[in-house]
Amino acid sequence: MRVAIAGAGLAGLSCAKYLTDAGHTPIVLESRDVLGGLVAAWKDSDGDWYETGLHAFFGAYPNMLQLLKELGIEDRLQWKEHTLIFNQPDKPGTLSRFDVPDIPSPFNVIASILRNKDMLTWEQKIRFAVGLLPAVVRGQKYVEDMDKYSFLEWLKRQGVDERVTSDVFIAACKALTFINPDEVSATILLTALNRFLQEQYGSKIAFLDGSPTERLCSPIVDYITERGGEVRLNAPLKEILLNADGTVKGYLIRGLNGAEDEVFTADMYVSAISVDPLKVILPKPWKQMEFFQKLEGLEGVPVINLHLWFDRKLTEIDHLLFSRSPLLSVYADMSNTCREYANPNRSMLELVLAPAKDWIAKSDEEIVAATIAELEKLFPDHFGGDNPATLLKSHVVKTPRSVYKATPGRQQYRPAQVTPIANFYLAGSYTMQRYLGSMEGAVLSGKLTAQAISEALPVANPSNLQTLTRPPATNAATA
Ligand SMILES: Cc1cc2nc3c(=O)[nH]c(=O)nc-3n(C[C@H](O)[C@H](O)[C@H](O)COP(=O)(O)OP(=O)(O)OC[C@H]3O[C@@H](n4cnc5c(N)ncnc54)[C@H](O)[C@@H]3O)c2cc1C
Repeated sequence: MRVAIAGAGLAGLSCAKYLTDAGHTPIVLESRDVLGGLVAAWKDSDGDWYETGLHAFFGAYPNMLQLLKELGIEDRLQWKEHTLIFNQPDKPGTLSRFDVPDIPSPFNVIASILRNKDMLTWEQKIRFAVGLLPAVVRGQKYVEDMDKYSFLEWLKRQGVDERVTSDVFIAACKALTFINPDEVSATILLTALNRFLQEQYGSKIAFLDGSPTERLCSPIVDYITERGGEVRLNAPLKEILLNADGTVKGYLIRGLNGAEDEVFTADMYVSAISVDPLKVILPKPWKQMEFFQKLEGLEGVPVINLHLWFDRKLTEIDHLLFSRSPLLSVYADMSNTCREYANPNRSMLELVLAPAKDWIAKSDEEIVAATIAELEKLFPDHFGGDNPATLLKSHVVKTPRSVYKATPGRQQYRPAQVTPIANFYLAGSYTMQRYLGSMEGAVLSGKLTAQAISEALPVANPSNLQTLTRPPATNAATA
């Protein structure tokens, strides 16, 4: 069966991959000239890569890890030491580590917190542990119920000290959602903490060994095309054409560079485009339906990704760092962390600027200047003195609408992959699955969509359906 999928982000590609496994023929239609959506990357004229986002993979990403294994590319993940590293703004140039020992969960994470002497007092640690107990004991239902509170409100309700927020969780909230604890839903942080507490290697971090476009998306495309599927770039979905009964008749693809628009027909249709453009192209009759009206409750959050090349090494740290700066979120020296970007003599810092709402409209020059001012605090040895580090070049990638903004109350607006329209499905990290707006969420959503389509269509290759593992929860919406 032919399945048309709009959007070649990780959700669309994962959906296509699992549809080919089930013996179907997916055709992915991507509007841009680059694969990957929010993981897209480009090479500049010097041959250096720059990316939409600095991407960290976690041990708690079972669907992503399984996908890499099925593609035979799991060795492309470069696993780092099991630790979380934070800058200390009050002691410029110093770091604080949460080293996670190699013992079963949750004792490994608890030990890492207890052993950290820089960031939390004993009283704060105990208060936080007690505050977290209901989430651990009462499980996902409790975590979902906490969506009505911001994480800051939740901490206050649990009697957790304000300093815990400023020391640890501002950094965590910004890293996970690009917004601060007073804005982010408590469900997000509690979900992540639960995963890290339940899985021994859940909080272990890996980096891809090169650009996500080449090293992650291209192998998925090869897999799909070798099995009869297709991935077309420069093929923007302009309109969803309807039959009289409201089902999809075809996808109207905008003709580029003077070419005619094209009507593309298939047996089933998937939208794996992000929620903001989807809202714009929803057919009028669908906009009356409660299922699609709920999408109005979701919108992408702005974020900025910077790349700064320096004339020298600023650090030898081969890991993700939580900057704890008001301007920045996480960053990494990619000349250490990523094989393809390696350079023994010069640093290339990749940094996420978040929250970005006040910065997204500013010029690249202003953004780079403000970032350098922050780096003077993070690397005082290299930016003070007579011979400060020189910035050789930079790239700034702005994404005005990235993953859905995970403020309180959003969970109820996240749609299931199965829609009320018989031949139309959704995929995307904004759709309901338990891994939130992440790469893992995108891959899982695509897999769930492929599974739902395979159940609806006559099965072409039943043996391969085993790879479409069912989500653990009984309600697919919270899986
Ligand atoms: C700065 C940054 C850092 C991040 N860091 C991490 C991280 O460390 N770890 C992590 O797990 N996740 C991270 N993420 C989140 C992760 O990248 C996303 O959750 C995931 O990639 C989303 O995939 P998706 O397929 O759901 O959506 P998208 O990637 O948004 O894919 C949607 C696709 O649809 C296409 N499209 C849009 N309109 C049309 C149209 N009309 N016709 C056809 N195609 C269309 C788009 O071009 C795009 O390719 C980060 C994101 C950013 C921006």
